[in-house]
Amino acid sequence: MTASDRKPAFESWGRYPVYDAALLPLNWAGDFPPANMVPSGMLPVGLGRSYGDVCLLRDGTLLPTTAMDRLLHFDPVTGVLTCESGVSLASILDFAVPLGWFLPVTPGTKYVTVGGSIANDIHGKNHHIAGTFGCHVRRFELVRSDGSRTLCSPIENEDWFSATIGGLGLTGLIAWAEIQLKPIVSRLITYEGIQFHGIDEFLALSRASQGIEYTVSWVDCTSQGKNFARGIFMQGDHSHDASPLTRSPEPKLVFPMELPGFALNSATVGAFNALYFNKQMKKRVRTRIDYEPFFYPLDKVLHWNRMYGKRGLLQFQYAIPWQHAREGTEAILKAVAASGLASFLAVLKVFGDVKSPGLMSFPQPGVTLALDFPIKPDVSFPLFDRLASMTREFGGRLYPAKDARMTADQFQTFYPQWQKLERYRDPMISSSFWERVTIDGTGDSQQGRLSIHHR
Ligand SMILES: Cc1cc2nc3c(=O)[nH]c(=O)nc-3n(C[C@H](O)[C@H](O)[C@H](O)COP(=O)(O)OP(=O)(O)OC[C@H]3O[C@@H](n4cnc5c(N)ncnc54)[C@H](O)[C@@H]3O)c2cc1C
Repeated sequence: MTASDRKPAFESWGRYPVYDAALLPLNWAGDFPPANMVPSGMLPVGLGRSYGDVCLLRDGTLLPTTAMDRLLHFDPVTGVLTCESGVSLASILDFAVPLGWFLPVTPGTKYVTVGGSIANDIHGKNHHIAGTFGCHVRRFELVRSDGSRTLCSPIENEDWFSATIGGLGLTGLIAWAEIQLKPIVSRLITYEGIQFHGIDEFLALSRASQGIEYTVSWVDCTSQGKNFARGIFMQGDHSHDASPLTRSPEPKLVFPMELPGFALNSATVGAFNALYFNKQMKKRVRTRIDYEPFFYPLDKVLHWNRMYGKRGLLQFQYAIPWQHAREGTEAILKAVAASGLASFLAVLKVFGDVKSPGLMSFPQPGVTLALDFPIKPDVSFPLFDRLASMTREFGGRLYPAKDARMTADQFQTFYPQWQKLERYRDPMISSSFWERVTIDGTGDSQQGRLSIHHR
C-alpha cells in the first residue's frame, strides 16, 4: 500500500488534502483535554462535511464530537431546542418535524453537526430572509483548554459569542447550544422551477422572489454561446396546508465505489447538464414536493463524494457584493466554461442583508456561486487560483468551509478581521486551514500553532 492509498483516520468531504492526525473522540464536554495532554495541538470536529482543511489538523489531535449527540431540552411552546454540539441536523429534523418544528436555516446536506453549523456560520436557501445559522443561536457554552467554561449569548460574553460564530472551531469547544426552531404544519414545500437564460434573467427572478422564503438556482457552467449561463431558478415556501408530519426514511443508497478520475469530464458533465436543463420541459413548473428532495437532493446517496475518484474534489464558493456581482459572475462563469473543466454541481444564489452576529461570517449582500470540480492538479489548481484572483478583483471573498487553495494573502484581504479572531483563539487549538492562511511571506505561521495570546 502506498502512502496515497492509506485512508486517514478522518477526512474532509473533498478528501483533499489528506493529513494524518490522532483521534480523541469526546463523549462529554468534560472530556475536552487540558492543555498539557495534547502538546501537538487539537481541533474539535463534527461530521467532516467541510470540503477542505478547516476540519483537519496535520499531525495534531482531532476531537470528533459526534458522540456528544444528546438532545437536552425542548420547549414545545416556543420551539427553543437545547442540544449538545455533536447532534446532527438530521437528528434534529427526526425529532422536531413530527412535533411541527423545522430548522431555521439548513445547508444542502443534513449530515452536519450543530457545532459545525455554528463554527462555519452556515447559510441556506433562505439567507435573504433568515440570515445565517448564527442568527438563530440564542446561546451556547464554550469550553477552553485552560479549563474555563463560558456561557455566550448576544448579552453574556457577547465578544466570545461573536468570535465563535463563524470562528472555524478555533475559540474552543462548543459544548451545547440553544437554537430557535421555526413552526411548520406540513412536510411539503410549494415549489416552482423556472428556466432562465443568462445572469440578467437570474437577477430579475431573484428580485421578484424576495418575499419567497427559499430560493436557489442550478446553473449550467459548461455552456457557451446562446446557452451561456442557462439554468433553473428554484423557489419555495413551507406549505400552509396541514398534512402528516412523519419522520423521514433512512437513505438506502450508498455510492458503491470510487469512479476512475476520467469519468467526470467536460463531455459527460456537458451531457448531464443538457439533460438536467431539459428535464424541466416547460419554462415554468409548479408543484408541491417533500422537503427532503427540495433541501437535500444529494443526501439520497450516501458517500456520493466517491464519484470524484480517489483524488477527491475541490469546491469553490465566492460571495461578490452587489456592486460587481453581475460582471463578476459572468466573468467567472466564462472563465470556467472556457477552461473545459466541468462542474455539474453549480449553485447560484443571492445573499440578503440580514447581518450575522459572527465576526468572520462568510455571506455578504450580493451573489454567491458554488462549484465543484474533480481534482486534476495540472488543470484544476491553476483554474482555482485564477478564480480566486478574479474573486478578489471583484471585491468578493471565498468560503473557508469549502476551501483548500486560497493563499494567505487572499484570505487576509477577504477577512481583514482575522487578527481579531486570532486573539480569541484557544492557544492549544489550530487547524491546517488556519496554519495555511495565516502564514507570512517566509512560509512560517505568523502566530504559530501553540502560541499563547493575550487579549
Ligand atoms: C453536500 C454538501 C452541501 C453543503 N451545503 C452547504 C450550504 O448550503 N451552506 C453552507 O453554509 N455550507 C454547506 N456545506 C458545508 C457544511 O455545511 C459545513 O462545512 C459545515 O460546517 C459542516 O459541519 P460538520 O459537522 O461536518 O463540521 P466539520 O466539517 O467536521 O467541521 C467544520 C468546522 O466546525 C468546527 N467544529 C465542529 N464541531 C465543533 C464544536 N463542537 N466546537 C467548536 N468547533 C467545532 C471544526 O473545527 C471546523 O472548523 C455543505 C457541505 C456538503 C457536503
